[in-house]
Amino acid sequence: MRPFTSTISLEEARKRLDANIRPIQRTERVQLEDAAGRVAASDVASPIDVPPFARSAMDGYAVIAADTQSASRSTPAELRLLDRIYTGQMSAAMVTRGTCTEIATGAPLPAGADAVVMVEETAKAIDDRIQIFASAAAGQNIGRRGADIATGDRVVSSGDVLTPSRTGALAAIGRADVEVFAKPRVAILSTGNEVVEPGQSLAPGQIYDVNRFTLSAIVSAHGGISEPHHPAEDTIEALVAALDTCAQADLVVFSGGSSVGERDLIVDAIASRGEMIFHGIAVKPGKPTAFALVKGTPFFGMPGNPTSCLSNAYILLIPYLRALARLPPHTPRTIRVPLGRRIVSAAGRHQFYTVRLRDGAAFPAFKGSGDITSLSQADGYIEIAADQNAVEEGTAVTVTLF
Ligand code: AMP
Ligand code: MG
Repeated sequence: MRPFTSTISLEEARKRLDANIRPIQRTERVQLEDAAGRVAASDVASPIDVPPFARSAMDGYAVIAADTQSASRSTPAELRLLDRIYTGQMSAAMVTRGTCTEIATGAPLPAGADAVVMVEETAKAIDDRIQIFASAAAGQNIGRRGADIATGDRVVSSGDVLTPSRTGALAAIGRADVEVFAKPRVAILSTGNEVVEPGQSLAPGQIYDVNRFTLSAIVSAHGGISEPHHPAEDTIEALVAALDTCAQADLVVFSGGSSVGERDLIVDAIASRGEMIFHGIAVKPGKPTAFALVKGTPFFGMPGNPTSCLSNAYILLIPYLRALARLPPHTPRTIRVPLGRRIVSAAGRHQFYTVRLRDGAAFPAFKGSGDITSLSQADGYIEIAADQNAVEEGTAVTVTLF
């Protein structure tokens, strides 16, 4: 047994994590349907003009602007109707002076026309003659060919997150698929003789695996592919075997095995397979968190206590995973409210204290590190600096919302 002799600050832990991020290099091709939220892995230039033809932006009449020069309600211009053009069809009509065609929004502009007058500014007269009540400028209500995207324009750059609108731009140039960075595969494994999977009945002394599910949810929500494993027993052999299997993933997240009685197990397992970057952070909850490289694969050793585990997943794992996945940093919403009840904080440790919002104030929601309801019944958390011993009732606090 080896109690913690030293811990590092949260700041130092973040620095060491940042120094050990290798953003994913693997790429894959996905169908456009599946591209939302993915990160483009190459620049995409357009092979076509968008729109591919000059088109009307209005329902109305395609005209020669010069024919409408002095048109008004009292002195309308009168033009002869040649054709009706709907979307998806080309008109053989040639608009010449004194003529026009009816045209639908999105339909190709007929040859000869250089403006569209909206239908509200027109009236049908007898004998297929159309009255125009307003003068049109050349180019009016026309979407030029290539006005949106010209051939050769870059539509998406490597590293761009494919938002719905960027996916739309790819669709506009006719792409059916797109090259994206692969999602990091994240192996998730709970350790502990007492931990069993849901669906089984509990024998005396056993508990259900919580961390596998909280961690999986975090991983899936932040750009990773969760690869859950069965819980591993608290033996060095089982842990080393689990490390060997899991190290084939892009990132490994274990939980448990880090309390004083078990600490040596994870430490020894890591020692035989890799390099410990840190073990023990001056935060509460979540002090026994470890980070290592196992055969070069980044490894998080999370505390077994469900709240400690999830809390550190929010604080450390999410930023790390997003950087690995090349996603921009997560920016949770925060609000500033008064504290509804005094909180006493752990001396010397940066504390993440869960709170519930009620009547415009934040009330303590933290029960214990072992209690998942410390988080599941909270709306967010406040941070209390290591050198602060208490936060008084009424103090304005910043709540980071889940
Ligand atoms: P450990 O870090 O393994 O010493 O575990 C600390 C506490 O968390 C113990 O009460 C464990 O039973 C509990 N625990 C460990 N792993 C899990 C898990 N995957 N799900 C729920 N509780 C756990
Ligand atoms: Mg354990």
